[in-house]
Amino acid sequence: METIFDRANALQEQLIAWRREFHMHPELGFDEIRTSARVSEVLRSLGYRVQMAVGRTGVVGERGEGKPLIALRFDMDALPIQEENDVPYASQIEGVMHACGHDAHTAVGLGVATLLAKEPFAGTIRLIFQPSEEGEDEEGFSGAYRMMQDGVMNDVEGVLALHVDPDFAVGDIAVEEGPVSAGVDTFYARIIGRGGHAARPQDVVDPIHLAGHVILAINAIVSRRLDPFTPAVISLGSIQGGKKDNVIPGEVEFIGTIRFMDPIVEEKIHAELEKAFSVARALGGDYSLKIVKGCPSIHNDGRMVRLLREVGVDLLGEDHLQQPEADMGAEDFAFFCAVVPGAMFRLGCDIEGDKREVHNPRFDLDERCLPVGVAMLAEAACRLLKRGI
Ligand SMILES: [Zn+2]
Ligand SMILES: [Zn+2]
Repeated sequence: METIFDRANALQEQLIAWRREFHMHPELGFDEIRTSARVSEVLRSLGYRVQMAVGRTGVVGERGEGKPLIALRFDMDALPIQEENDVPYASQIEGVMHACGHDAHTAVGLGVATLLAKEPFAGTIRLIFQPSEEGEDEEGFSGAYRMMQDGVMNDVEGVLALHVDPDFAVGDIAVEEGPVSAGVDTFYARIIGRGGHAARPQDVVDPIHLAGHVILAINAIVSRRLDPFTPAVISLGSIQGGKKDNVIPGEVEFIGTIRFMDPIVEEKIHAELEKAFSVARALGGDYSLKIVKGCPSIHNDGRMVRLLREVGVDLLGEDHLQQPEADMGAEDFAFFCAVVPGAMFRLGCDIEGDKREVHNPRFDLDERCLPVGVAMLAEAACRLLKRGI
């Protein structure tokens, strides 16, 4: 009997064609005009009800009726990276590249749509093609959040997603219960002194000097103030202050990121950052600190993970189920998982003997991973539709 894997494999050529088409025409977050038009065209041709401009440039395709309502999410955006690969399907857009594999995710989404278009099922399948996973718009919101504002999670009972991962071989998947990506917040701070002539430091309050003490205090938060068993990162990505050798500036600006798995740790870091910056006050200066909340940590739901494992064993075999390594990267799929039971699994995509890292100008993947992703998600969705969460 023909399995779902056979049917996914039969789509191989089409999947590669889609993936390469998206790869050649990458678009940055909230600029996925061509991509979303192409996605909706395919979904319509397959008989899906299609809604465009959800969360600005997102697309939602739906099939079926009533409960259960199961959603699958695929992100579509590229990165501001100049591709260095010399392949026939290399990016045709200067300075923009699919270096995180979202071209593959979108192709997998269309593959899943193709298989589920022929499948009889009870309930509703909602395919979410999401814009801007990699970045926020001018108001600080990424694609998943924007789509949620437009109601994409309404009535959803469970949501699944995948991400390609060069740490694993093609044919392998990795999935784990609990926190699998970090939460992230951004902080913007100013250390305020009083500028003047660099030859007379006694007459000024030097914000660069104050910044040195603040940096030490910030870097001691994780090592001295947090429980060593709770993962956290605080990194300064930008420090700006002064322009000239003989002028002490009035201010120094900081921009940094914080990463955490646990909201209690997040709160503690916020409080500790206030204390670290207040060192500037103790030394005669002042500060302002603004922390902008980003996305939370993805907590993979236990039931969804058990289902993915079960499907993985049935389709790929027990030997092909791996443990993902803990990572402090962030993924805005977390917004969906915060409101409904959800899980994301890693899809092995390694080019054997030629490992390519994501977010690198030479990133590429072994396209044989595409039907694996299609089969996994299509089968998982069918089982969820059949028996609920
Ligand atoms: Zn990425
Ligand atoms: Zn990504």
